[in-house]
Amino acid sequence: MTATNNMVYANKVNGKQVIEQIVEHLSFLVTQDSCNPPRLLSLDDALFIETQQFFQNQGFAVSLTDHDKGRISLFAQRGKPDILFNVHLDTVPITGQWQYPPLQCSVVEDKAYGRGVCDIKGAVACLMALAESTDHDMAVLFTTDEEGTDSCCVSEFIASNDLSSYQQVVVAEPTDCLARLSHRGYVSAQGQFHGENGHSSSVNALKGNAIHQANQWMAQAINLAEKACNESNPAGVCFNLGHIKGGEKNNMIASDCALGFSLRVPPGLKSEQVYKQFTALAKGEHIDWQHSMMAPALPEQAHMLKPALAFCKKHQLAQGDAVNFWTEAALFAQAGIPALVLGPGNIAQAHSIDEWVTLNQLQSCHDIYLGLIR
Ligand SMILES: [Zn+2]
Repeated sequence: MTATNNMVYANKVNGKQVIEQIVEHLSFLVTQDSCNPPRLLSLDDALFIETQQFFQNQGFAVSLTDHDKGRISLFAQRGKPDILFNVHLDTVPITGQWQYPPLQCSVVEDKAYGRGVCDIKGAVACLMALAESTDHDMAVLFTTDEEGTDSCCVSEFIASNDLSSYQQVVVAEPTDCLARLSHRGYVSAQGQFHGENGHSSSVNALKGNAIHQANQWMAQAINLAEKACNESNPAGVCFNLGHIKGGEKNNMIASDCALGFSLRVPPGLKSEQVYKQFTALAKGEHIDWQHSMMAPALPEQAHMLKPALAFCKKHQLAQGDAVNFWTEAALFAQAGIPALVLGPGNIAQAHSIDEWVTLNQLQSCHDIYLGLIR
């Protein structure tokens, strides 16, 4: 079933066209400032009070969880659905000069403008319209810490709930309404090499110099990264040394050298394992490794692709290529729940000035989600 064929599902609710209903919800959502940073959100914000009330009115059981620091999850469920929809409510900050007021949803011709319409409040509005216009079983999880690469809300939700009743998680991000089943994981890490300082004439200089030590590790790491490249995956694990700093003066043995690197781990490999392979090339007391981000690939275990593919086939979902951005779908798949990414809009408009999404994409997304829940 293509997005266009799905249009036949379009119906009228309370005398309103579905798209009017979606835009109405989107207008409310866009006026609720959920920029992250600063993520100054709290349970008594209208965003949560009104959204909770809305879902309760549609027969959902709703729970709100405050994970502190503006990280709030809203989980709403009606009946016993086998699909969980996950969407983040937070947006990136408003920067630059906008032609349209960023905290208002402006509909001009075939597009809706405003911060978050594309990434990804449009999907929330589609789900709200569905909750209202149907009585199908449904489950939604809205979170507020996706844009800060925090992912506490989703991680905590996975850790504290039995999700075995869900056959599939649909994570909404702008994918042009195509189901995306895979993307790379991401690792960001720092290494600190400690040498022995002293005069450069010392016999210690060659082995005790922290820059020399870092250099040896770098050579081996680049070698390992090259081995991971092949014809089907020419970028390999996307090893990248981002910065290096160390030493004081040409005639002093460098006592410290700090560097940072990142990896983009392809599906089927575990980020943690690839990170360990790289850091194991230099270990001992003279080196400290730390990672500031350890995000799994979607999926990190190849067998998790099968149920997602079967789900696409069953629901005749049009599939797109792997996405180039990281999503929280990877966290669900890592926990053993098949997950895919599917939402309205194109990533090119996400995070942009005068962010927009087409009304057609919103309608298509609504109709595809409807096809999934009925
Ligand atoms: Zn997003």
